[in-house]
Amino acid sequence: MVETKGELKQPSLHHPSSDFSEEIANEPGGEDITKCIQCGMCTASCLVAKYTDRYRPRRLIQKILLGKREEVLNSELPWLCMTCRLCEERCQEGVSLPEIFGAVRKIAAREGKIPNVFKSTASLVLKDGWMLKDTYTDFIEDDRDDLGLDTDLNWDDDFVKKIKKKYFKEDKTR
Ligand code: SF4
Ligand code: SF4
Repeated sequence: MVETKGELKQPSLHHPSSDFSEEIANEPGGEDITKCIQCGMCTASCLVAKYTDRYRPRRLIQKILLGKREEVLNSELPWLCMTCRLCEERCQEGVSLPEIFGAVRKIAAREGKIPNVFKSTASLVLKDGWMLKDTYTDFIEDDRDDLGLDTDLNWDDDFVKKIKKKYFKEDKTR
């Protein structure tokens, strides 16, 4: 309570809210969104933000709080968080940004708003079992040979097919 000329008043608290921030708060991982006081420590800590001016976690949280639903869900920015959790360690309000951005991605994915680059990466993993199969060249094979490493990486196509069959409805590689 704050005392003003003899009267006790409720302090002015930060209560950012919007339909979108409530939606995020109701999604597992998004519960802490309204604790954010927009101090900017997350952006100052963020490794991705050091590489690109476009990625500013504080600003992304602000957009959620302001209810800019379509802008956030159609953006590739929530997908750039690499979940290093540096921001989370330093946030004085206990806001877990990677969890919040995970909640944003879940909603975006449910609405079919996955950026193409991530869709193609996921397709590669579903097809080959890992992301970098096409980058395994003769040069790398020679390098491994020079280092005395096994050059046969033993792709287990049957295992990939088994996983796809178990967890995904369609298996287009069969
Ligand atoms: S460090 Fe925490 S409180 Fe500060 S802007 Fe980032 S999420 Fe919000
Ligand atoms: S968890 Fe995400 S937002 Fe936080 S510092 Fe790491 S990359 Fe940046």
